Amino acid sequence: MKLYEQQELKVYNSLTGKKEVFTPLTEGYVGMYVCGPTVYNKVHLGNCRTFISFDLVFRYLRHLGYKVRYVRNITDAGHLENDADSGEDRIAKKARLEELEPMEVVQKYTVDFHTILERFNNLPPSIEPTATGHIIEQIEMIKILLEKGLAYEKNGSVYFDVLRYNQQENYGILSGRNLEDMIANTRELMAQSDKKNPQDFALWKKAEPQHIMRWPSPWSDGFPGWHLECTVMSSKYLGEQFDIHGGGMDLKFPHHECEIAQGQAAHGVAPVRYWLHANMLTLNGHKMAKSTGNNILPEEIFSGDNVNLSKGYAPSVARFFMMQANYRSVLDFSDAALQAAEKGFNRLMEALSILPNIPEAEHSSFSVQEWKQACYDALNDDFNSPGLIAKLFEAVKLIYAGDARKAQLTASDKAELDQAMKAFCFDILGLRPVDALTEGTQDRSRLAGVVELLISLRKRARDNRDFQVSDQIRDELQKIGIQLKDKKDSTEYVL
Ligand code: AMP
Ligand code: ZN
Repeated sequence: MKLYEQQELKVYNSLTGKKEVFTPLTEGYVGMYVCGPTVYNKVHLGNCRTFISFDLVFRYLRHLGYKVRYVRNITDAGHLENDADSGEDRIAKKARLEELEPMEVVQKYTVDFHTILERFNNLPPSIEPTATGHIIEQIEMIKILLEKGLAYEKNGSVYFDVLRYNQQENYGILSGRNLEDMIANTRELMAQSDKKNPQDFALWKKAEPQHIMRWPSPWSDGFPGWHLECTVMSSKYLGEQFDIHGGGMDLKFPHHECEIAQGQAAHGVAPVRYWLHANMLTLNGHKMAKSTGNNILPEEIFSGDNVNLSKGYAPSVARFFMMQANYRSVLDFSDAALQAAEKGFNRLMEALSILPNIPEAEHSSFSVQEWKQACYDALNDDFNSPGLIAKLFEAVKLIYAGDARKAQLTASDKAELDQAMKAFCFDILGLRPVDALTEGTQDRSRLAGVVELLISLRKRARDNRDFQVSDQIRDELQKIGIQLKDKKDSTEYVL
């Protein structure tokens, strides 16, 4: 029996605004698409938060036993400067400024993106398609939309006809916007535009003579609109309808709204069953963003080389900091919060290293089974990682109590706790034990071993009525601050 048959996962679906029981289209399989980065700059910690949030989703679905096909694209063309349909292509602009070929820019920042996510211990997606690798498919989809009368061509560019679409379907279904209100609130001057309506969006743009990223098409030498690539690549690799689509909250409108419209218009079916949106990482209360400069780069976190930081932090510490908040909450970055996360993470890792040393008892004073289900309950509640972490710290308390002989675990409970703690910390939260300040941890567990050896020698001395030796062991340990307390059947100590 697969774990997913025993656990009932609920996810918050942005489309309905409700937590819903997650049931994939095909039993045992999950198709998940997440909008990837536009590779024209180094990823900042805010971008990383979104990808780390979906790594948690990916890891948990896999842990439950699903076979997950996780598709995350690389946007290497078509994303214009101002997110709408005007301005320079972000990659082409960077290529101009850095005097590079656009594909050199793409390569450079794709490599940076992979390197950083690997340091955060993100698992790679199953497929990572690029927009430029799917120009033919994008042209084909535009043809379908034109045939269906839901797109129109003007001066070599092709636009999606939002008003026409809205007569049959609901444009605004995801973001809760109403097209009439949008039209009423539009101040945009339409004089120089080829669009029939400001709400229409580009599927294909004719390239200006200076625009270097261009491909031939039936309409012009040009390039695809930004929203189209995601519809084309998700349907190509996951089908016309698939289970989960994720991305940052800021992509809900217009990007994801347009994806829904394109998919529904082309295939006659809602493309996505569960829309998941990750919330923003802020710095000094404002969204971290490339454009405003209000951001921190991951390499600055690792080195400490940033005015907002007092020192460097290991990748798992930053990851643990993010996991302490639910992925749907805004999270504000601060040095103090990272320091607290470092302490918590080290304590968790230390508890894991102590666990094997605690003695095995006849009975347990803690129900590992109940605790483990409570951990799953947290994760089943829309990937509630802070809830899971609270439960992990209950186990940490128990481990320290066990170490101080104030709590008991049977051998099998101890093994189960060890296995479950490791699964939650490493397989699901994606922490890396090597990132802990383990030196102290190792010293501590060595010291515990030595103290236990001395306690057993002292017991033997007492059994032999050699009180001189037994008292000497107790007194010498007392001198270095380790106090032994004799209980009925055991001797307790605190390091
Ligand atoms: P971009 O490369 O700008 O398209 O962004 C890549 C991903 O990072 C998108 O899913 C964005 O929603 C997400 N993102 C951008 N800024 C932040 C932020 N401050 N916090 C969390 N996610 C962000
Ligand atoms: Zn997308």
